[in-house]
Amino acid sequence: TKQQEAFPGRIIPTHGGGIIASTIQDVINWARSNSLWPLTFATSCCGIEMMSVASSKYDFSRFGFEVARASPRQADVIIVAGTIVQKMAPVLKRLYDQMADPKYVIAMGACAISGGPFFYNTYSVIKGADHVIPVDVYIPGCPPRPEALLHALITLQGKIKSGMTREQIKANPIQL
Ligand code: SF4
Repeated sequence: TKQQEAFPGRIIPTHGGGIIASTIQDVINWARSNSLWPLTFATSCCGIEMMSVASSKYDFSRFGFEVARASPRQADVIIVAGTIVQKMAPVLKRLYDQMADPKYVIAMGACAISGGPFFYNTYSVIKGADHVIPVDVYIPGCPPRPEALLHALITLQGKIKSGMTREQIKANPIQL
């Protein structure tokens, strides 16, 4: 059943339906994983692919991610989509610091992972978001397709739902 999927190992089936034998923490994890509010941080071309996940074709509201925010204080997952230049790095750090815990970071695309096409001989580009803030999910591609971002969000959702803390996810980041 859907309830058994939502709380694996926590439902005892009965003839009349199901009994939830869960903990408050399980319920918190379940609720949190289904309401990740993204903070958009689009700096270049990957941002266009990021925006399209909100379109009717991909419709990320199906999974609970539709409340994209422009304020870090109202968001809990930042999607770094695009090139990060030296001047932008302090802004990225400040936005991250302003987000409430627990917060998560997705590096979308080659530029956010490593500087991408600007890795060599470009003095102005940071060689990956993880030089500025800790990253939980890496999505390769130049640019990654919207399906890849959806896959990243759903994978992160699964980790949170399974009870992993932010520290545990950060220590072993998701590499798609
Ligand atoms: Fe643009 Fe490619 Fe960099 Fe994405 S990874 S921001 S598509 S150059």
